[in-house]
Amino acid sequence: MRADLERLSAEIESFYEEVRDLPVTPRLDPAQIRQRLSERYDFTRPVELSELLPAVADLLRAGIVHVTHPRYFGLFNPSVTAAGIVADGLAAAYNPQLAASSHAPAGVELERHVLRYLSSRLGFDPDTTAASFTSGGAEANHSAVVAALAVRVPGFVEGGLRAAPAPPVLVLSSEAHDSFRKAAQLSGLGREAVRVVATADDLTLDPGAVRAVLRAERANGRAPFLLVATAGTTAAGVIDHLLALVEVAREQGVWLHVDAAWGGAAVLSRRLRPHLAGIELADSVTWDAHKWLSVPMGAGMFFCRHPEAVARAFGLGETSYMPGAVAGTPDPYATTMQWSRRLIGLKVFMTVAALGEAGLEAVVNAMAEMGEELRRRLAAAGFRIVNVTPLPLACFTHPRLERGEVGASEVAARVQAAGRAWISSARIGNATDVLRACITSFRTTEADLDVLVDEVSRAMAG
Ligand SMILES: *Cc1c(COP(=O)(O)O)cnc(C)c1O
Repeated sequence: MRADLERLSAEIESFYEEVRDLPVTPRLDPAQIRQRLSERYDFTRPVELSELLPAVADLLRAGIVHVTHPRYFGLFNPSVTAAGIVADGLAAAYNPQLAASSHAPAGVELERHVLRYLSSRLGFDPDTTAASFTSGGAEANHSAVVAALAVRVPGFVEGGLRAAPAPPVLVLSSEAHDSFRKAAQLSGLGREAVRVVATADDLTLDPGAVRAVLRAERANGRAPFLLVATAGTTAAGVIDHLLALVEVAREQGVWLHVDAAWGGAAVLSRRLRPHLAGIELADSVTWDAHKWLSVPMGAGMFFCRHPEAVARAFGLGETSYMPGAVAGTPDPYATTMQWSRRLIGLKVFMTVAALGEAGLEAVVNAMAEMGEELRRRLAAAGFRIVNVTPLPLACFTHPRLERGEVGASEVAARVQAAGRAWISSARIGNATDVLRACITSFRTTEADLDVLVDEVSRAMAG
């Protein structure tokens, strides 16, 4: 095994030396990848790992968008640290089973320890918060929907939605993440249970409009049970007015969930924390470690101040074969969506421990500062920033885009095809297509920003 692990570490090391000079965009298309795979692997003969490793690494180098590239300005997918890579290796090697606490007490406690710390950073009381790792933000948002259903819709856990005295509805903004629509489909609420409230001009949820929608729904015989606010929208990084929405939710008796999948990391920065004021009063929060916390994929987090709701939503009472519970430690299978679970939280634990509180804050601040630099450079090059956020995400347009001489998605595609940087286009507010660039890597430098602005300007010119 040693030789294989040494080859692995050499491969990872050389990838990180070279990634800055690799094209960000895949050079192989799916047909070419499929062809390579079917030529080489029919699985009839075993292939030496020493041969497989470099072949798979080659395929990955040529066949993915390199989200760890310092000029990937994309969809919240981070660069990762050595701590995260090492932790994922350890989790794979020891393969602890976290479904039941008694099977992996050290795993469960490692996760609990870091979740308690992050709960307190959110402003939640770690002693009364139910917190868990999820596969990502979508699972965390889905968890919020079912936890809220379990306690806000009478009879739901036993009788399902059929038992609801009035049809439950879920209220969110047009900028909220689409995973809530999916959760509505999967939970049996159905898409028609989702009420979309139009946003104000600055793309935030208007608390007055939310109040009016909640009242109108009730007047029409329906039962709003959940209000979703977003701290850092996916398209534009906009933070809703959390304090005002907390007030509306309390007054109207609905559960408030704050989706801070990306923006949650801002609580780690004293400079940015005030922008998330009110998050500590939410009923539940989604926060992805695999976004701004720079942890490898597959690490979302769900925080809920109502452990009894979580126990009701996910608990089963007796099961036929699971080991008995450990006193004082809820079994993850009975408090979350998953059953057999990997040690998701180790990469979060090790990343947080390796950086330390000051290190975490420095990374968050440095990336926010890079976002400011990006906005300055774009403005200087004749682009107009259209989103208002302290977070490092710029949505921008240009007179040529506004006159319709070229489309935002066309410009983004040209930038991607050139391969020196990766940006996307996004539709925000009243169907405006804009360019979107997010600082996702702690390795991004000002020189990388210059390359990006050059590339976008060139793509804009045709
Ligand atoms: C990314 C994102 C999600 C979905 O999270 P995944 O980790 O991709 O499952 C949900 N909400 C917001 C605001 C996001 O940015």
